[in-house]
Amino acid sequence: MSQRIVLRGGRVIDPANDVDEIRDVVIEGDRIADAAEGDASSHEERVIDVSGRLVTPAWVDMHVHLRDPGFPEKETLGTGGQAAVAGGFGTVACMPNTSPALDTPEIVRELVERSEREAACKVLPIATITRGRSGGAAVDFQALVEAGAIGFSDDGDTTADSAIMRQALEASVDLNVPVIVHCEDKALASGAMHEGEVSRRLGIEGIPAAAEEIIIARDLMLAEMTGGWLHVCHVSTRRGIELIHDARQRGVRVSSEVMPHHIVMSDEWVAGTRVLHNTSAPASEPLAPAHPYTKVNPPLRPVADTTGLLQAVRDGWFDIFGTDHAPHADPEKNGVPYQQAAFGMSGLEFAFPATWELVRAGHIDASELVRLWTAAPATLFGLDRGTLSPGAVADVTVWDTETEWTVGRDTIHSKSANTPLIGMTLRGRADTTYIRGKEAYSA
Ligand SMILES: [Zn+2]
Repeated sequence: MSQRIVLRGGRVIDPANDVDEIRDVVIEGDRIADAAEGDASSHEERVIDVSGRLVTPAWVDMHVHLRDPGFPEKETLGTGGQAAVAGGFGTVACMPNTSPALDTPEIVRELVERSEREAACKVLPIATITRGRSGGAAVDFQALVEAGAIGFSDDGDTTADSAIMRQALEASVDLNVPVIVHCEDKALASGAMHEGEVSRRLGIEGIPAAAEEIIIARDLMLAEMTGGWLHVCHVSTRRGIELIHDARQRGVRVSSEVMPHHIVMSDEWVAGTRVLHNTSAPASEPLAPAHPYTKVNPPLRPVADTTGLLQAVRDGWFDIFGTDHAPHADPEKNGVPYQQAAFGMSGLEFAFPATWELVRAGHIDASELVRLWTAAPATLFGLDRGTLSPGAVADVTVWDTETEWTVGRDTIHSKSANTPLIGMTLRGRADTTYIRGKEAYSA
């Protein structure tokens, strides 16, 4: 006799099935059941009133740094999994810039096995492109896919050697997994924030937009030449997504992702401003100028790029959202000069409040937002997640879209608290997250 949970009367958005209506969602054991069928008498049934709540497939984040193995002071599979389910996520793909790097089948297999025991959510490993993520020699792509790798990335760095990128993209043709690229021309990127009027005002060395766009252009050409599958990470400039869109129009196999922080935050945040751009959320008290929590790679760009990226989302140019959750411990972020601080911000627990504001402001339909976080990544990467179809794995999130809460160390489940949203009052968050039919998180 399997347990049956009836989530009664919520607004169910399930883009994979074109559903946006008030209805029940039924979980039987670890699977979604057909709400119209089923014999309740043969089950132990629990009915939960979720009226006034939003119910969606648990969200999917294809760009997360879990820092495991190697950096337990920043995050572990355990704490990262807790942050994921607290943020309403059921599946995360983890980047291989760990120590050791995820560059051999043994390390990938061990991570998968350990994540099943230690992480509250599903963890999908991304392997490196080069051994040791050193940029030097290519990994054994096929063996890594057989071990469970769902893609390849030297994220954190660009694979500078174009011949290795060509080799990786050629391998991706037969393996049908993406080469996931962090685009940054290192020679142009010795700065700490976006190069522009704000960096000049603050006296901080800048990183020009061209540092990102030059490598996007190179990788698109290599994808075109090889027919390989290129997935461009965290596109942060309008010109960057235009290059990708143009290439796609020519038939290049390229997908791309955009991060919430590049749409709701700009380089003005480095100067202290805390207005969520492109939303109607109330402004917060400013942060101290040049606070390392605003340091992220690619950097926060000018307001014009935030609106340009949002327009690209509205035009369907981006395939998915992702967070680039990048936890860092205090010594790398607090009381450190901006130039020396680590790049990266925590993301898993703020994705919903940040992007639901875009729905509230009328820029994106609720169902389109949910699609970009669920069915879209599941379809792109061929995952058996991101849907509430009967028989699907019961990863389900119940959201409270209206609750107001203040971000503080006490609310953060990640091991690290590096977010410029700290102290801000946000709207909306996960109420309950079910993973394989079991309650994995409850607010
Ligand atoms: Zn990156």
